[in-house]
Amino acid sequence: MLINGKAAGACGGECFDVKNPATGELLEQVPRGTEDDIALAVEAAVSAFEGWASTSPQQRGMVFYRAAGVVRQRKEELATLLTQEQGKPLAEARNEIEGFAHVLEYYCGLAGSLRGDFIPVPGNGYAFTVKKPLGVCAAIIPWNMPALIMSWKIAPALISGNTFVLKPASSTPLTNLTLASVLNEAGLPAGVLNVITGSGETAGESLVRNPHVKKISFTGESGTGIRVAELAASGMKRVTLELGGSDPMIVCDDANLESAVAGAIRGRFYNCGQTCTAVKRLYVFESVAEEFISKLKAGVRNLKVGNGLDNNTDMGPLNNSHQMEYIKELVAEVKEKSEGRIITGGKIPSFKGSDKGYFFEPTLVSDVPEDSRLLKEEVFGPVLPIVKVKNLDEAIEEANRSSYGLGASVWTKDLDRARMGCEQLNAGIIWVNQHFKVAPEVPFGGIKGSGFGRENGPDVLSEYLETRTIMLKT
Ligand code: NAD
Repeated sequence: MLINGKAAGACGGECFDVKNPATGELLEQVPRGTEDDIALAVEAAVSAFEGWASTSPQQRGMVFYRAAGVVRQRKEELATLLTQEQGKPLAEARNEIEGFAHVLEYYCGLAGSLRGDFIPVPGNGYAFTVKKPLGVCAAIIPWNMPALIMSWKIAPALISGNTFVLKPASSTPLTNLTLASVLNEAGLPAGVLNVITGSGETAGESLVRNPHVKKISFTGESGTGIRVAELAASGMKRVTLELGGSDPMIVCDDANLESAVAGAIRGRFYNCGQTCTAVKRLYVFESVAEEFISKLKAGVRNLKVGNGLDNNTDMGPLNNSHQMEYIKELVAEVKEKSEGRIITGGKIPSFKGSDKGYFFEPTLVSDVPEDSRLLKEEVFGPVLPIVKVKNLDEAIEEANRSSYGLGASVWTKDLDRARMGCEQLNAGIIWVNQHFKVAPEVPFGGIKGSGFGRENGPDVLSEYLETRTIMLKT
């Protein structure tokens, strides 16, 4: 843990293991944060608030700028640590570490745009608005993209003058702790950013309940998000909820099939399928389904599954036993109930050492019935259900049937079809002829069961600032 700029043990003295999901090896033991630890971290953030809030946004930005430089210099070491605890291939881990640095640089650039408004009002007067930081903000984050999601939470909050307490996921706290130390070494004053490791039920809930925490930004499963929102509501706290998704990808008959195949493979199997905006349901026009599926199958069979640290690995293991059991159960159910046809994959791979980690083959299932769990739940793993549709109307109707609304994509060369997809698909982000791309420059977030509030883009600063209105009579 990191409290007030220093490494700390748990008040209760207990620890938990962080293990490599590819090998089962113990990487490190980390303190199991208690309610008292949360109280200490929040206290440190409260004490640091006045000093940090009184620095200029440009001074804060310079800390980000220096930290981003160090993160880029230490990219290999940080990416290796991320792969070891999360499982993703090194190339993906490098992207994520670069993404962390890029987010810091983006908010460093936004520092100069923090300002209020001047508003003329009727009569002899003026009105001004000034923007004030909220105080102590907090985030609870998942294990799938721990570095990137950490940056999306801490960067807008800190640049706005807030102080922070972060609770990483239990299986991936190591990269988060190292990145927080880099920020401290780059000049973040002690207590501005604190990290508490521990369980969701204890550390997470204590953080949401703590009366000094003014805002909670949560990323994780929809069920946990509801619990967090309930607790936050009773304390009148601001909340951002970035929850699960079941993104549909629609392939029309005029789409460039080669690029749609590449998009589906990257969209589904990147990070072993454990991405909120992964392609989780694929709808393809009947007239091109056979050709598309055969190309997709060939591409998926070429994916090399293995330890993320091996340079030629395309897909690493699932992150934890819970995910592994869930994916095994879903695929077993497809087989038992004949709910679709497994075209490739569907089992644990058999390379040397595969029994030590949470490996599962990249799996395609076609002809999936409407009421299958593969279409109704968020399949957070390397299994892609494929449904054939007659036309775009049917595809959009099926796509919108989900309770989630994070992302969606439509693949076509026809502008009218693209526009129809953009207008009628119910999602927070809609891609045309691509799926997956996100950037700190653009707003990101879901609708329906995928949550509310937005991250990224200049507007996110208002989530971490309050507006004070000043009425002046002359
Ligand atoms: P999770 O909800 O189990 O855990 C997320 C975090 O919440 C962890 O740090 C966990 O310790 C904590 N937590 C658990 N119970 C809690 C409680 N009662 N109170 C407070 N905190 C609690 O999710 P996960 O399995 O770690 O992550 C996968 C999920 O995250 C998927 O549903 C995925 O779609 C979602 N996700 C969403 C986005 C997005 O931006 N929309 C991005 C990444 C992941």
